[in-house]
Amino acid sequence: MSDRLQDGCIFCMIIKGEIPSFTIYEDDATKAFMDINPLTPGHTLVIPKFHTANIFEAPADSLGQVMTTVGKVSRAVDRVIAPEGINILQANGAGAGQSVFHIHFHVIPRAVDDGFTMNWPQVPGNMDDIGKTAKALQDDISKHE
Ligand code: AMP
Ligand code: ZN
Repeated sequence: MSDRLQDGCIFCMIIKGEIPSFTIYEDDATKAFMDINPLTPGHTLVIPKFHTANIFEAPADSLGQVMTTVGKVSRAVDRVIAPEGINILQANGAGAGQSVFHIHFHVIPRAVDDGFTMNWPQVPGNMDDIGKTAKALQDDISKHE
């Protein structure tokens, strides 16, 4: 396992136990621990137990394992914190607000009036533009995936 961890990565250091974490669940493939700068009480992070930077690089099977743990953690947060809702958030790249470059999924308890702006108004798009983008994505997926 240690050969799949990256020196200097803060989440790899948490996996190795070199820095402390409030771990709430782990299995062979994944680990879930509290975010130490919580957006709201119960804010938890879920990571694979090897270093991979983002959604572009992560192997498909590890994403499946991580999402299984995201489900477990979300249900626990729902039972224990009883929020009005939960957002699952995952950032890829600086432009998306990623600050730790070891892939992680945020489990974030939410309330209708918490004032955070992870939601956006629903404004109908241009169907021609949406259709063109969909076609480009379909073609790309059929070539690459
Ligand atoms: P992101 O900005 O999406 O890359 O999220 C990184 C998250 O990691 C932030 O919400 C930080 O608060 C959190 N974080 C950074 N260092 C630690 C740490 N040592 N233990 C727990 N959470 C951390
Ligand atoms: Zn790492």
